[in-house]
Amino acid sequence: MDLVFRKVRLDDAGSLTDVAIDGGKIADIGPNLACRGAKEIEGAGRVLIPGLIESHLHLEKAFVMDRKPNRSGTLMEAIAVSAALKPTFTREDIEARARRVLKTLIGFGSTHVRAHAEFDPAQGFTGFDTVLDLRREYADRITIQVAAFPQEGILKAPGTDAMMVEAMKKGADVVGAIPYNDTSANAHIDWVFKLAKDFDKDLDFHQDFRDDADQMSIEYLARKTIAEKYEGRVSVGHLTALGAAIPARRDEIIALLKDAGISVMCLPATDMHLGGRKDEFNVRRTLTPVRALRDGGVNVCLATNNIRNAFTPYGTGDLLQIAALALPACHLGGADDQLTVLPMLTTNSAKALGLKNYGLAVGKDADVVLLNTQRVADVILDIPDRSVVVKRGRIVAQTERHVDYAF
Ligand SMILES: [Zn+2]
Repeated sequence: MDLVFRKVRLDDAGSLTDVAIDGGKIADIGPNLACRGAKEIEGAGRVLIPGLIESHLHLEKAFVMDRKPNRSGTLMEAIAVSAALKPTFTREDIEARARRVLKTLIGFGSTHVRAHAEFDPAQGFTGFDTVLDLRREYADRITIQVAAFPQEGILKAPGTDAMMVEAMKKGADVVGAIPYNDTSANAHIDWVFKLAKDFDKDLDFHQDFRDDADQMSIEYLARKTIAEKYEGRVSVGHLTALGAAIPARRDEIIALLKDAGISVMCLPATDMHLGGRKDEFNVRRTLTPVRALRDGGVNVCLATNNIRNAFTPYGTGDLLQIAALALPACHLGGADDQLTVLPMLTTNSAKALGLKNYGLAVGKDADVVLLNTQRVADVILDIPDRSVVVKRGRIVAQTERHVDYAF
């Protein structure tokens, strides 16, 4: 075997086990495996999880918050600030910042990321092409799925339609979309569905990012998904407006989302920063209703979205920090709720991204993370060091922290 983990914890109910890895795959799982590894790692009871999955992130506009501030803190100004900055980004600049993000993701145990890479007639394909090149270069360290993302709209930004087609020809994995930032949300949805079907690709929407429940296009999107037989192939990020819907309508929409097999990515760091800016008291959390979605049978994920820019002027790229934020923000702190949160960074996200060989089981890809904590239930509470990060059977990052106490 290439690598064997000894005495690791996969779940809190079971006993410690060994995990053997060979040829980039999980070859065997069981107590006291007889095989020997070219490299052996003593788990000493630490938790082993499948790799974290960053299901919604913007690589090419991270780490630019100090170039131009978003003074109002609103989504509108964030989009304006970002649109003004983008044409100034050079290839070298984008590449350096994207590399910094990828490095931090890998160190924090992410083995996959869905990157929404944007383009428009003003900035061209500079950022998008850079992300495509990094996808190839980083393939043995982190799997990058690239969504072709028309941040400035399609119908209202002439020339973007042809760029969307070009982006798919260049090799985008997923068709991205943003109905709320276009002249007609429904026409935008129709347009991207046709493109996705032409290229046989999944869809990922920036959807209904508003504080209020008016002007939602999620119902249209869900019905369109069913009509086009695209169940299980559509994801939506944000969906904050659903949190403002009265419960009866909310629950109708949740039932529709379940029927359409639409996955929802909650992006709490961004959504709480930009949302509720007009509330002068009793400021709302402006988050998609994660608990109601989960209880309604919808596949829910947690993701980072942005790191240190006009949309989210903080963040480290550590998904466990996003999960720790979601515990109070989404009312997921109850002991029974907490157990449902880690899957929102792992198995639920794998389902949303359509990953077929993911998980802690024999024959699956050896994308795993050894955490410096002893109970699965403590993973999000401790935010432990990622002791060993393995991508396709190879160690790609290790962290060891040591505190010298003076007492
Ligand atoms: Zn986004």
